[in-house]
Amino acid sequence: MVKLSEEDVKMYLKAGGIAKRVREYASRIAKPGLSVLELAESIEDKIRELGGEPAFPVNISINEVAAHYTPVIDDKTVIPGNSIVKIDIGVHVNGYIADTATTVSFNPVHESLLEASRQALEKAIDFLKPGVRACDIGRVVEETISSYGFKPIRNLSGHSIDRYLIHSGYSIPNYGDSWIKWSFSEGVYAIEPFATNGVGFVREESVVTIFSLRSTRARLSVLEKKVVNDLWSSRRSLPFCERWLRSYSRSIEGVRGIIQSLIRKGILHLYPVLVERSGGLVSQFEHTLVIYRGEVIVTTI
Ligand code: MN
Ligand code: MN
Repeated sequence: MVKLSEEDVKMYLKAGGIAKRVREYASRIAKPGLSVLELAESIEDKIRELGGEPAFPVNISINEVAAHYTPVIDDKTVIPGNSIVKIDIGVHVNGYIADTATTVSFNPVHESLLEASRQALEKAIDFLKPGVRACDIGRVVEETISSYGFKPIRNLSGHSIDRYLIHSGYSIPNYGDSWIKWSFSEGVYAIEPFATNGVGFVREESVVTIFSLRSTRARLSVLEKKVVNDLWSSRRSLPFCERWLRSYSRSIEGVRGIIQSLIRKGILHLYPVLVERSGGLVSQFEHTLVIYRGEVIVTTI
């Protein structure tokens, strides 16, 4: 982990404050019948209005979709009645990232599924201090979710964060396997328990709505070069989506053509939509926290 300065911590807290307000705003406005496109744009506008930038396109994941869905330019999806919706929000201020998620439910029957991951997050944070092993946090998450009769999703995890890096190398498991050896020390982390009434694994769909730059070196057209330079200079390898490239073409096909070409040239990383393998419903809560001078500071609370 990179050593933190007081100024770094201030910036992480700034991003966290914005993310918290945007999350609260998002849970207020999300309703059955609302288009996910409108929801996503309102959330991302709110981030900018409050002085941040999206660290990644807002993920709006309905029912058995666990993560990595962001609305496309011409998205016709509306939030269904009786659904549960995960809203995963990333904010960055000069590369200092806050990552936070909530689940909203439109049928009280889902309440215990939500409570399982909400409680798991709360208990994990209570348990966390410098020196605690990641696998012990995972055990707290697993035991809490199991006590509600649900399963954690084993192949989704929390992560360490660095400047301009959402996943900086350490994974925080949602289960207690003791072969995961690392322990928490000074740094920035996102903890994100996922609970499901399904089998507890996600699989990748063929649909991809989120991308990031993994390189800027390729033979590019003038337009592609402009897109890549703009992305790299404003956000480096932080993820983006087709909605954010609308200004580069007059048509949706044009925007998609640019992305397809960059994929063919091998410079994009793809984040496929992740769906619970057995079609189970999925809930998620997430906070970002900073460990600094022996203290745990939750930036998104
Ligand atoms: Mn997140
Ligand atoms: Mn995260």
